[in-house]
Amino acid sequence: MSNLTKEISKRRTFGIIAHPDAGKTTLTEKLLLFGGAINTAGAVKSNKIDTATKSDWMEIEKQRGISVATSVMGFDYKGMKINLLDTPGHQDFAEDTYRTLTAVDSVVMVIDCVKGVEQQTEKLMEVCRMRNTPVICFINKVDREGQDPYDLIDEIEEKLNIKVCPLTWPIGMGKTFKGVYNLYTKNLLLFQPSKKKLSAEAVEIKDLESPVLDKNVGDTLANQLREDAELIGGVYPELNVQDYLEGKVAPVFFGSAVNSFGVKEMLDTFINIAPPPRERATEERTIKPDESSFSGFVFKIHANMDPKHRNRIAFVRICSGTFQRGNSYLNVRHDKKFRFSNATAFMAQDKETIDEAFPGDIVGLYDTGNLKIGDTLSEGEKGLYKGIPSFSPEIFREVINKDAMKTKQLDKGLSQLMDEGVAQLFTFEMGARKVVGVVGNLQFEVIQHRLKNEYGASCDFAPMNLFKACWISSKDKKKLDEFIKSKHRHIARDKDGKLVFMAETRAWLQMVQDNFPDIQFHFTSEF
Ligand code: GDP
Repeated sequence: MSNLTKEISKRRTFGIIAHPDAGKTTLTEKLLLFGGAINTAGAVKSNKIDTATKSDWMEIEKQRGISVATSVMGFDYKGMKINLLDTPGHQDFAEDTYRTLTAVDSVVMVIDCVKGVEQQTEKLMEVCRMRNTPVICFINKVDREGQDPYDLIDEIEEKLNIKVCPLTWPIGMGKTFKGVYNLYTKNLLLFQPSKKKLSAEAVEIKDLESPVLDKNVGDTLANQLREDAELIGGVYPELNVQDYLEGKVAPVFFGSAVNSFGVKEMLDTFINIAPPPRERATEERTIKPDESSFSGFVFKIHANMDPKHRNRIAFVRICSGTFQRGNSYLNVRHDKKFRFSNATAFMAQDKETIDEAFPGDIVGLYDTGNLKIGDTLSEGEKGLYKGIPSFSPEIFREVINKDAMKTKQLDKGLSQLMDEGVAQLFTFEMGARKVVGVVGNLQFEVIQHRLKNEYGASCDFAPMNLFKACWISSKDKKKLDEFIKSKHRHIARDKDGKLVFMAETRAWLQMVQDNFPDIQFHFTSEF
């Protein structure tokens, strides 16, 4: 086995997705404790913005600081090198999360057993489905009075449109919670609330009829578990790992992150079944990770916190070959080579300079404005990596320049913030009106604040009645031209110059779609 193949087979790059408060930060911390990457609980900071303080600038700046510090957490576990990519919890930063999901090979989804499947989880899952990302589900907080476990897994199947396969099963819940039974290793894990201890005591029971079970959990719950195990065995077939890898079935674990309960079982299964870096498609061909020539793409850009220095950190996911610090790599979009002498790897606690990195790894490159989200770096490959789309924003406002003397600064600031993916900019073909589209209102405040602080420009945002920005295409160039002509007041370009139809209402969009059957309307920039 070559060194490259060996390094690739050790890599597991994944993200944790959850609705805020489900327990993502707590679970992350426990995983890092298992990996020995941190020693004490409380070391991982939540990247949450409290909605009560959401227009507090300090809070947003703090968030930016935390988010660069905890964006990628690398740790070792049982001979594997695990890269955990953090996703912002606040829904106004959802677009950032969507993009981070393009850089992972699998995800762990945390669900609160009291609240069940929540709105943000549904949205994130839709993004996972676009790429058939394998999902492991961790149903958290079983120490609380949660919903019935059958209802929970039914809800996952229904709302998230994925089949499930329970690998552990809870014995009681809330006050009566006694532990979980591992349906496959046939181990009984007994629950002792502990915020300090890292793993629970496991009692092996050869078969469920064993009196050891009754002794440990009491007759009633023991009999209930016997019934449950039989029922589950009948309804849910044994986990087919291939189906999991294709994103068709999600293994489910029950546990309590804050009590470190059931976390180790999930992690052990994760390193067994989660996929190593896989091949990825560019516009030209499919590239295998073990190809010797380096390639990767930028999925996140983080501006320097110090406004005096405009340099930024670009997060690059390595897809093939070996990245070497100091080498020059081709920026496919510019068709120009750049040297990256200042590369950082991300460890759980800090950043450190690295000399080489492998597929699955994330490196941070210092950049002075040449890189933007979606860029591909390579040793000569010409195609851009696919699968880093922009999604249609939900809220739109027109940019009004408040200081005519600072037009240049405003344009530059807007363009750089858009490269970072803070929001999306659409420029109308008629009159060159600029419209910013965001997922959440908080983004407008962030933009105004950063334009002022970092570029000395000021702007207002005028409300606009827009429902969606739809990227348009057609097989018939003539039909597309006709459409643009007839709807010219509603045609804009995105930051890459792609054509976009700005639809005012859902009903109107539907009507236009019906009237122009030869035009395709897309809700993401990649189609
Ligand atoms: P995040 O928003 O998803 O990152 O959620 P956090 O990890 O910050 O957790 C939200 C709250 O749930 C915190 O108060 C945690 O202490 C609590 N929590 C996390 N895991 C559990 C658990 O297993 N049981 C209980 N009862 N609370 C938990």
